[in-house]
Amino acid sequence: MAYPDPIRQLITSFSRLPSVGRRTAERFVFHLLNAGKKDVVELNRSIEELIASIRSCQACWDFSETSPCFYCSDMKRERNILCIVHEPQDVQAIEKTGKYKGRYHVIRKMIKVDEEDSLNKTKIRELFVRIEQKDITEVILALNPDMPGETTMLFLEKKIKVIRPDLIITRLARGLPMGSDLQYADEITLGSAISHRTGVGK
Ligand SMILES: [Zn+2]
Repeated sequence: MAYPDPIRQLITSFSRLPSVGRRTAERFVFHLLNAGKKDVVELNRSIEELIASIRSCQACWDFSETSPCFYCSDMKRERNILCIVHEPQDVQAIEKTGKYKGRYHVIRKMIKVDEEDSLNKTKIRELFVRIEQKDITEVILALNPDMPGETTMLFLEKKIKVIRPDLIITRLARGLPMGSDLQYADEITLGSAISHRTGVGK
């Protein structure tokens, strides 16, 4: 006999989450059934609040309760530097180092060379519009040192040079192992990679 519908539906929903396979999704559902009403109500409320109160910052595309977000509206931050990152979690990783006081741009997805419309799923067009503002003097390409990150950084570099030939383009200093993820780098290594960032040749 198959599971009752409500159980099957929730297993399907959990299975769509990253790194959650069917077995884990099943474990989540039965955990909730065993946990009792209070835990389930709390989870339910958290998810509703997430959807109701979190929006995309229309300047940097980080997720935030406000738009512009905390970083974009902080007048003490340097307005002339933009750090380009893949995901909102990367903003948190860089903030933790305490070595960066500029602003961010979250591209959300990497581009794929073989996929024409892959640009549509990113916030890269929004980035190109943003860098037309003359008060921006430097962009830091801070994507993961792996193949998708490398492909995307080369693409960005080429396009940015056309849009703003005068703009300084920098990359994180070497030190993060190839194939690694910024979000899991230790603060010292990541902080030093930001402080010692190097210019991309013209
Ligand atoms: Zn923002």
